[in-house]
Amino acid sequence: MQNELPQLKYKFDALEPFIDAQTMEIHYSKHHQAYVNKLNEALAKHPEIADRTLEDLLSNIETLPEDIKIQVKNHGGGHFNHCLYWEIMNPNPKLKPEGKLLQLIEDEFDNLENLTESLNTEALNRFGSGWAWLALTKNNNLKVYSTANQDNPLNLGEYPIIGIDVWEHAYYLKYQNKRADYIKNWWSVLDWEAAESNLKKYML
Ligand code: MN
Repeated sequence: MQNELPQLKYKFDALEPFIDAQTMEIHYSKHHQAYVNKLNEALAKHPEIADRTLEDLLSNIETLPEDIKIQVKNHGGGHFNHCLYWEIMNPNPKLKPEGKLLQLIEDEFDNLENLTESLNTEALNRFGSGWAWLALTKNNNLKVYSTANQDNPLNLGEYPIIGIDVWEHAYYLKYQNKRADYIKNWWSVLDWEAAESNLKKYML
């Protein structure tokens, strides 16, 4: 399994003014590329797991060879998480969820505003580097939490619907220490249609 950077569906400056072009370019072509390269280096040592998907590996970290476990969790997680992040952002996003996703949000959080606030709080309070998630449990319930590093819901036996990157590399050039402003603006580029697709993909 040779992993590659996914094709971006928009240009580096397409998410301006919410996410600046320079941040996008460095984030995608340097940070994400580095995760891909280091994941491939780790997997090259173990051809016996070459036919397993990345989702499978991240969902079953404990089954990985000991000498690459940490690299796959960190760099494989980095690759997976960034693919999701690029996918759920869009210069012309669908601005509200509907259908099944909206129903699950209302079941769990009463309304969209509560969900947004809850995710913002998780994203803001994540100490150091990590991600804030809207995740789907195996019982088809929605949950909000954050993880450190490049950990993600797959590691916990759950599924990612929305992920907000709160590593400083995601926002520092434009927002410096003002993570709250980045998070607030980030909702302007979240494409709810992509979130609905993730729900369809993972719902059991
Ligand atoms: Mn990142």
